[in-house]
Amino acid sequence: MGRIAYVNGRYVPHDRAQVHIEDRGYQFADGVYEVIAVHKGMLVDADPHLDRLDRSLRELRIDQPMSRRALMAVIRELLRRNGIRQGIVYMQVTRGVARRDHPFPKVSVPALVMTASRKPPPDLSVLETGKKAVTVPDIRWGRCDIKTVGLLPNVLAKQHARTSGAYEAWMVDAQGNVTEGSSTNAWIVTREGQLVTRPTGNEILSGITRASVMDLVKREGIDFVERPFTAEEAKQAREAFITSATSYVLPIVQIDDAVIGNGKPGTIARTLLQAYLAHMEGAGASR
Ligand code: PMP
Repeated sequence: MGRIAYVNGRYVPHDRAQVHIEDRGYQFADGVYEVIAVHKGMLVDADPHLDRLDRSLRELRIDQPMSRRALMAVIRELLRRNGIRQGIVYMQVTRGVARRDHPFPKVSVPALVMTASRKPPPDLSVLETGKKAVTVPDIRWGRCDIKTVGLLPNVLAKQHARTSGAYEAWMVDAQGNVTEGSSTNAWIVTREGQLVTRPTGNEILSGITRASVMDLVKREGIDFVERPFTAEEAKQAREAFITSATSYVLPIVQIDDAVIGNGKPGTIARTLLQAYLAHMEGAGASR
C-alpha cells in the first residue's frame, strides 16, 4: 500500500504531496505542529495534544483550520488509509499562502497538512542500556512554549548530538540551567532521590508526555519537585531521563563525559516507563 498524506482537504500520494512555495510556513516558519503517537491502533493523549495545537494557533493568531471533530476525523481517516496501528501522526498548520511580506496577510486561509508514519513500539532493551546526552547552549527564541515549525536551533542541537554519538542534546540557558532536550523534556533524580524537572514557562515546550508522566509520578507517590536544575547537577544525578510522545520515558546514562548513577537506567525511570506504557494502553488511549 502506498503512503498517503493529507494536504488542504485532499488525500494524496505521499510522494506527490506538495504545498505552494509562498506558504508562510516555508518562508517564515509561520506555523505550528503536533505529533501524536499511535499505539496498538489507538491515539495517545489526543485531546491534550489538540488542546496544545489550539493554544499554539491562538498565540500566533492563526485561525483554526477546522473543528476538533473534523480534525479527529482526518486523523482517523489518514491512519486508516495508511493502515497504521503503531507509529505517529504529524500535523502542521501554517498561516497559509500569501505574497511574501512580513506582516500578517489581510486574507489568508490556514494550511493544514498531515502525514502518518509507521514506527515500531519502543525497544525495551533501552531499559538495560540507556542513551547518552550531550549539552549545548540554548540559542532559541523567547517563546519556546509555542510549538512552531521554527526548529533550526533544535535541528542543530540534535545534529550535534548525533555527531557526538549521543541520542539527545540537552540545551542549557545563560544561567547554566537545563531547559529541555532538542525534542524532549529533561528530568533528573538527585543524589537525595528527589525527581526534578523544570517548571513550564516561555523557555520550554509544555510536553504532553511530561504532563502525563507527572500524573503517574503523583500516583506512584514519588518524591518530586518542579524547579530548574543545572547541567552540573544533572551530571551528578542518580538518574536522568527524557520524555516525549515518540521517546516515551527514555533513560539517559551519560551526559557529556559524566556517567549517571552506575551507568545503567535507574529504578524511577524504569517504573515510570512501565506506568507510561500502561497509560498509553489505558487512560491515555482514544480511538
Ligand atoms: N520539547 C521539545 C522542544 C519538543 O520538540 C518536544 C516534542 N514535541 C517535547 C519537548 C516533548 O513534548 P511531547 O511530550 O508533547 O512530545
